[in-house]
Amino acid sequence: MIEINTQNLDKAIAKARQTKPLVKVIEFRLYQVTNKITGATYTVKFSKVNNTKYAECNCKATKVCYHIGAAVGIHIVLAAQTVTA
Ligand SMILES: [Zn+2]
Repeated sequence: MIEINTQNLDKAIAKARQTKPLVKVIEFRLYQVTNKITGATYTVKFSKVNNTKYAECNCKATKVCYHIGAAVGIHIVLAAQTVTA
């Protein structure tokens, strides 16, 4: 699990905007991210402990990768809906 914050997410989101991977919602906090060019698919999971947010991806990256950057955009929208629902 990697702690996520606006700083390390910014880079990941920027990279995701370039690569434009396909994001599919598996369930709340669980996403499947596919690279449209290579077809490689990874699973991204978000969790929250107290007020700290964490993410994990099953790719080789040890930092916040662009899969997390791609999934977080959808996650923020869904999380906001869940809070207000
Ligand atoms: Zn990844």
